[in-house]
Amino acid sequence: MNSGSVVEVAVFAPLRKTFHYLRCADSDAIPALPGSLVKIPFGRGQRIGIVIGLANSTDERKLKAISEVVDTVPVIGAAIMRLARWASDYYQHPIGDVLAATLPGPLRHGSAPVRREASEWVIHATNQDVLDDLARRAPRQAVLLERLSTGAKTAADFANLEFDWRRAMRELEKKDLVAKRLRTANKISQSSQQAFSLNDAQQAAVVVLNDALGSFKACLLHGVTGSGKTEVYMAAIEHALKSQLNTLMLVPEIILTQQMVARLKQRFGSAVGVLHSGLNDNQRAQVWLRCRDGDIKILMGTRSAVWAPLPRIGIIIVDEEHDASFKQQEGFRYSARDVAIKRAQQLNVPIVLGSATPSLEAYLNVKTNKFAYLSLPQRAGLARMPSLKCVDVRGLRLRGGLSDRLVRDMGACLERGEQVLLFLNRRGFAPIVLCHQCGHIATCSRCDAKLVWHKERKLLSCHHCGAQKRTQHLQACCPDPEIVPLGLGTEQVEETLHELFPDKRIARIDRDTMRSKTAMEETFAAIRGRSVDILIGTQMLAKGHDFANVTLVGIIDADSQLFSTDFRAEEKLAQTIIQVSGRAGRAEYSGSVLIQTHHPHHDLLQTLLLRGYDHFAEKALEERRRAALPPYVAMALIRAESPSTQMPMKFLAQLAAEVKQKSIKGLEILGPIPAAMERKAGRYRAQLMVSAQTRRVLAVGVKAFINLGDTMPLKNKVRWSVDIDPLDTI
Ligand code: ADP
Ligand code: ZN
Repeated sequence: MNSGSVVEVAVFAPLRKTFHYLRCADSDAIPALPGSLVKIPFGRGQRIGIVIGLANSTDERKLKAISEVVDTVPVIGAAIMRLARWASDYYQHPIGDVLAATLPGPLRHGSAPVRREASEWVIHATNQDVLDDLARRAPRQAVLLERLSTGAKTAADFANLEFDWRRAMRELEKKDLVAKRLRTANKISQSSQQAFSLNDAQQAAVVVLNDALGSFKACLLHGVTGSGKTEVYMAAIEHALKSQLNTLMLVPEIILTQQMVARLKQRFGSAVGVLHSGLNDNQRAQVWLRCRDGDIKILMGTRSAVWAPLPRIGIIIVDEEHDASFKQQEGFRYSARDVAIKRAQQLNVPIVLGSATPSLEAYLNVKTNKFAYLSLPQRAGLARMPSLKCVDVRGLRLRGGLSDRLVRDMGACLERGEQVLLFLNRRGFAPIVLCHQCGHIATCSRCDAKLVWHKERKLLSCHHCGAQKRTQHLQACCPDPEIVPLGLGTEQVEETLHELFPDKRIARIDRDTMRSKTAMEETFAAIRGRSVDILIGTQMLAKGHDFANVTLVGIIDADSQLFSTDFRAEEKLAQTIIQVSGRAGRAEYSGSVLIQTHHPHHDLLQTLLLRGYDHFAEKALEERRRAALPPYVAMALIRAESPSTQMPMKFLAQLAAEVKQKSIKGLEILGPIPAAMERKAGRYRAQLMVSAQTRRVLAVGVKAFINLGDTMPLKNKVRWSVDIDPLDTI
């Protein structure tokens, strides 16, 4: 039988098996190669998958043939195939599902990748007279010219205009005022060198990174906010470019890092590609193609960008490596940071992980010499670090959650013409609402959770399943309800601020007010333009932004996370406090931070305030070591859920019992226990915690769970999943 005519296909589905197919019978067809995107007959229908290799099949007569090879060049190159195979093995997740996750939507759904040659428009000739004239007679054309005055633009740059801009553009073309041309790729602008020279610490970091070019080396770049990490990245990118090498840069939710995109584009021009969740499937596919074809030299993106087919990578950067958004929380649960480290290792290139608040994982890797440690201990330029203080709110009268001390300091700050930032990680008006007449508390009918009151939108909403009810719903409790809010949300703080500072301009930044990208851009522009005095917001405000005129930060409530059962809660809280604090006093002003708490003597706050994040991390690591928790042990979480109450616990208990019979040496099994919020969206949830001193033992253990779980009769009554290196463990 002629070998080489059978291939192994990984189907885009969570199936642990791969399947054998014959190559297309038709000799005109595109050959199916490793990495090819194929359509295959499957069951009674058709599926999409990837050829992962040639196979020696026993009996070819029984095999079906591939129905179509979609791509002329395999969509999965050798490098991504290798990375995906590693990830499938490490996360014990089906290879077909892993490969699907590496591709943008249209390819995943089986359409052939086609490059749209993007056009762009540039100003041909214009002068002020022409502009004035147009502004009077053809305002739409004037708007287009105005936008083009800052440089070439593509269709995407006009997409938000509400009129038929293409028509207006054609008029401009006819008048020869603008010209349409093919988009110029690869243009690296060397124009804007920074006005300052790097300081010694930055210089030292850059030297280490540059010397590492051409070999694997992982570096933690620990720099306080505003210490100039981004400048270090850019110097390293530039060095790589000089050797014709590309850069892959991962960042948390990009929508929040417009500043970073702008800085990179300003320095490196159109060689910068951006991949983020704000793009639609087609746009993502286009970036993916431009990457593969070598038009992008610097790719900056969120989590899934770690799979981008960027060739000739010289260095990988992960900014804010501690950020939880690098972890995919459902389906194929991978950590983009950890996959990035693996990618660097496979490619034999350096990787730099930057943060002001490194994860304990990163600290331990430094301690054990797996990571090199680069530090930027001081703020760059003239900016100084803010001072942190606790406000003991026990017994104090609070107005909308604000103590007199905080209000007084706010007043003084505003008086000086500076800005205030208040942080509260809870949106809505109040997390709990009670009827004062009958005591009824509004709860979600599908979750073990209270409904959050959104006063402005007149809604009660569940932040866990998204269920919404009109406020009137509460009136079902008694004929004459009297709504009392319990607890505090950003909306309520905003209301109080309007009362306390009636003549000040207030911006609330949370997922309710920042629903569109434009809302976000406008608000941030207003903040920078100083047409906002007080900012109140959630996590959205805590990350990455440079607010030069904010000199006072108030953390309204530090307590809710102090006593969580999640073993990572303290680490997260410490990171949040330091990150939020980093927003203060970034320019020539020095800043201060007030942390309101009922527990001013709590160990975590004391350590953080008196001795800093490094000491906190040191202590927290020691606790983890003593408690045998990550990063000192390897951990996995087995989760199960079902609409019926007992089933998840029963399934997991049986499964645990079976695995225990295998007596895998060194494998610790804890539980099962119900999830902290047992019922979510109508499903009951439980979990098992599995840990081991070594990765190898954990892998053996998890494999046993998977194999046994797949054979248990109860498995059809639950949905269950495996999470390696889980972030959320409650
Ligand atoms: P980070 O990324 O660590 O928050 P940035 O790179 O954004 O820090 O730098 C913070 C600010 O300091 C920026 O406005 C940047 O232009 C400026 N800056 C960075 N390095 C220097 C330097 N060596 N001298 C003067 N200013 C600097
Ligand atoms: Zn709910």
